[in-house]
Amino acid sequence: MKKILVTGALGQIGSELVVKLRETYGVENVIGTDIRKAEGIIAEGPFELVDVTDANQVYSVAKKYNVDTVMHLAALLSAKAEENPKLAWHINMGGLVNALETARELNLQFFTPSSIGAFGPTTPKDHTPQDTLQRPTTMYGVNKVSGELLADYYYHRFGVDTRGVRYPGLISHVTLPGGGTTDYAVEIYYEAIKHKTYTSCIAEGTYMDMMYMPDALNAIIQLMEADPNKLKHRNAFNISAISAAPEDFAKSIQKHIPDFKLDYQVDPVKQRIADSWPNSIDSSAATEEWGFKAAYDLDKMTNEMLNKVNMKFV
Ligand code: NAD
Repeated sequence: MKKILVTGALGQIGSELVVKLRETYGVENVIGTDIRKAEGIIAEGPFELVDVTDANQVYSVAKKYNVDTVMHLAALLSAKAEENPKLAWHINMGGLVNALETARELNLQFFTPSSIGAFGPTTPKDHTPQDTLQRPTTMYGVNKVSGELLADYYYHRFGVDTRGVRYPGLISHVTLPGGGTTDYAVEIYYEAIKHKTYTSCIAEGTYMDMMYMPDALNAIIQLMEADPNKLKHRNAFNISAISAAPEDFAKSIQKHIPDFKLDYQVDPVKQRIADSWPNSIDSSAATEEWGFKAAYDLDKMTNEMLNKVNMKFV
């Protein structure tokens, strides 16, 4: 039986991951932590305030609960990191080192997500390979490449059981996204339900990888339970389910709301980030090494998103 500490547990991923892990491993075996106070369902199980930039706080809570696994999610996301690069370095790198050190000292299994943001303008854009050129031009991307390397280093140098994926943009109806470049792909469903119209900050024809949250959560559990002997890679497995541009979301939504309208008012910062990312990444290493397979394509996700978001407003 696992005992898991989750950092950044109140964010877009953490708020759903903690619930799923508690269903899978038992409420008492999943300790949520965040720099903010918990409310609602996350507060119904073990929860502690932890600032990941303070090494002692991470270590003490891991020790107090005698955990065997850390899932490190606390971070500043891509668009916010571009607004405040120095703070991004402090949280994304400082927090990661502290979490990895706790894993090393207490011999814990370790998970942290990288991102499609770890690629850059010189990376092959279509079917982006697992192992390829990574020269990102954003602070978030610099943090993510460094994080991938650091997690690999802790495995090779200290034998810490580090594992991770490169997430695409994640779409969910539970918690709103925290300031990423693919946030539009969540907002579009809310605006479709509320106003039947959406103004996209990302330009027409800009393809990026996306994934529905249930696939993202299953991937974590599957990777963490995978046979280590089958893992040729350790961290930063490419995983994706959908490659789509804003107009593809609109077409999918129009199958349910025929008079839905999409227009554009491009945000230059987000567009610059989006243009530096791949159109579609190749997930075959994850499929071969630990059986990754997404269950949701764009239309299946749209159907569920519209139903769930609609229920919030009736
Ligand atoms: P989010 O912004 O929704 O949540 C991050 C959480 O971290 C927040 O609850 C915040 O309060 C917390 N936090 C911030 N600073 C902290 C600190 N100093 N100490 C402790 N907690 C702190 O992010 P998310 O979308 O849940 O992303 C989680 C991880 O997944 C990040 O590493 C992110 O880069 C990665 N990722 C996310 C996506 C996505 O689309 N959501 C895609 C690729 C990768």
